[in-house]
Amino acid sequence: MAELRQDPICGRWVIIATERAARPSDFTLGRGDPKGGFCPFCEGNEDRTPPEIAAVRPGGGPSDSPGWRVRVVPNKFPALSLNGHAVAPGTGHRRRAPGVGTHEVIIESPRHAISPTDMPPSDFEHVIRTYCRRAEALDADSRLAYVLIFKNVGQEAGASIEHAHSQIVGVPVMPRRVAEELERCEQFYRHNGRCLLCDVLAEDLEDGTRVVAQTESFVALSPFAAAFPFTVWLLPRFHAGCLFDMGADQEAELARLFQEAMARVEICLNDPPFNYAVHAAPTAAGGRRDECCHWHIELIPRVTRVAGFEWGTGFYINPVEPESAAAYLRNVTDRQVAERIARQPAGSGDGRAQARHSRS
Ligand SMILES: [Zn+2]
Ligand SMILES: [Zn+2]
Ligand SMILES: [Zn+2]
Repeated sequence: MAELRQDPICGRWVIIATERAARPSDFTLGRGDPKGGFCPFCEGNEDRTPPEIAAVRPGGGPSDSPGWRVRVVPNKFPALSLNGHAVAPGTGHRRRAPGVGTHEVIIESPRHAISPTDMPPSDFEHVIRTYCRRAEALDADSRLAYVLIFKNVGQEAGASIEHAHSQIVGVPVMPRRVAEELERCEQFYRHNGRCLLCDVLAEDLEDGTRVVAQTESFVALSPFAAAFPFTVWLLPRFHAGCLFDMGADQEAELARLFQEAMARVEICLNDPPFNYAVHAAPTAAGGRRDECCHWHIELIPRVTRVAGFEWGTGFYINPVEPESAAAYLRNVTDRQVAERIARQPAGSGDGRAQARHSRS
């Protein structure tokens, strides 16, 4: 018999359809063939993007020149722009506000990597540090209520450029999906004086069946009421509202676990398209509430399609019990993970990304 489960954080109910229990090999939605051709994000093509906002350039050098590890540039076709003043939406049935906000692209590697697992760990550390520094910088902008970091890998996940990149969007109003989580977390905090996610996490760690991997400070787990098969959440084992309050050692530790979690998902599901998004406390202008927000990264392989039932009800059917998903992901060996994550020194050519091209 199927089971209904309610997500403790956002309150959404899902149907865990154990009767149609699927195995990893039942999901065949791949990333498609690499497109190839000219890539504006590869090193040497800096003049084909808008001027950079920030970059990691270990050897120094001018902006918009080669020699970088990570570059942050404005989105060429931004969903929102900072030209103008944020105005509080009016009242009544037709609320509107000017499209004030930011839309930046984080180019994660000078090489034509496709997934973060195509990068040496030291490069992915730069990516995590860049997330933290950009989130911190945008947090200070009084026009923004919320800053979302997210990533699309593969066409099915919405990626239009295949070169590894993420996006960071600052919006002037609270997004509904985030507000749903926040409302429940605030309510729990008011009644119990502690963080809801800290509570849920303590239970998950004790139970152990949904834990995928962990380090001293972070954990990757399969959430109890995941709406999509093989969803993985990454979060700190300590309470923290914002991603950017970590020390350098913790940033490196998170990068390691994050790369491992992605490698486990990719090995298990044969390089699926995927998305991830970072949920953290709102900005100062958005009302902050660090005490009851606990940042987490939601990683979702895009292996099922949302159809009429989901669209019409907001109910999701997940054909893989989260405990089984965690077991499949844990069963990927450390050796497989190590082999997947590129170890070659930076700048030594296209390595595995190339190998993947020739396989397809
Ligand atoms: Zn490229
Ligand atoms: Zn917490
Ligand atoms: Zn969330």
